[in-house]
Amino acid sequence: MAVLVTGGAGYIGSHTVAALHERGEDIVILDNLQQGHKEAVIAGKLYVGDLRDAAVLDQIFQENKIDAVIHFAANSLVGESMKVPGKYYHNNVYGTLCLLEKMNEYGVSRIVFSSTAATYGEPDRVPIDEYDRTVPTNAYGETKLAMEKMMNWFDVAHGVKSISLRYFNAAGAHDSGKIGEDHRPETHLVPIVLEAALGKRPHVSVFGTDYATADGTCIRDYIHVSDLADAHVLAVDRLRSGADSAVYNLGNGQGFSVKEVIDTARKVTGKEIPAVFEARRAGDPAVLVASSERARTELGWKPSRDKLEDIIESAWKWHEARPNGYAE
Ligand code: UDP
Repeated sequence: MAVLVTGGAGYIGSHTVAALHERGEDIVILDNLQQGHKEAVIAGKLYVGDLRDAAVLDQIFQENKIDAVIHFAANSLVGESMKVPGKYYHNNVYGTLCLLEKMNEYGVSRIVFSSTAATYGEPDRVPIDEYDRTVPTNAYGETKLAMEKMMNWFDVAHGVKSISLRYFNAAGAHDSGKIGEDHRPETHLVPIVLEAALGKRPHVSVFGTDYATADGTCIRDYIHVSDLADAHVLAVDRLRSGADSAVYNLGNGQGFSVKEVIDTARKVTGKEIPAVFEARRAGDPAVLVASSERARTELGWKPSRDKLEDIIESAWKWHEARPNGYAE
């Protein structure tokens, strides 16, 4: 049986394909390559197409014996989602509906879903646990929450079991050096800081210095992309063993401010990395830190790289070796 990975040419998707491959799974990938990179797919059979195209889903489910899906294919930029929410509803929500209907039609009843901490919005307390309230502050988080809820109703009606993994800030690259982060345009803090270290950008913009945090900048929970990938594989195992639908947070449980990330990157790279203080970015909560107790207990997941320095070091190796990402 094969695992279908939608969005498997993207950043977290490609690392998950690598993790599935390392343990000998058969892998089928669907990616429209709008943001993904063909070169990032280091194993499996790639179909280039869109979730919203019934013909390509029919072809995949007819040509392969799929028993589980890991669903990454989505737009995922907070800032963009505030400007063009319709794009997010169409690709993320409608795209997921198309996928679930096809899964149901072909009798595939296991899905691991790439969700997000953005489903919580501004948390009442940190670390956040899975039972805390979900009131997204941006359209991206709202669409991911809608996707989670849609999966629940497909469980109630059709017995499709889902595990939603709500994660915090992915960073770092695969140890092999073959895959890493390459978004066009790049909007995420860690790669932007490292691009500034490489001299590809004149400086890093710090979005907001007036948050209610110790140094005034936003706090996030950074997690190594390969640790995230491992959690997806464990979630597939759990569904295959007959477990019920569930939601798990994935994070290190420790928050770092934007300024701390920049300072750590200065240490790791030995570069100056100029920073410019700017206004807040719309839709950003002040603090997002996860409690991942449930994932640790129920999935048996344990992040192997919980030090920010190690995560940034891993990202730095990739950026230094591949300053133009997959373009080289
Ligand atoms: N951020 C920043 N400058 C940048 C990019 C991001 O100050 O050029 C901040 C952003 O406001 C947020 C944190 O860094 O508080 C992490 O943002 P990122 O886009 O990496 O991930 P997100 O938290 O949106 O998933």
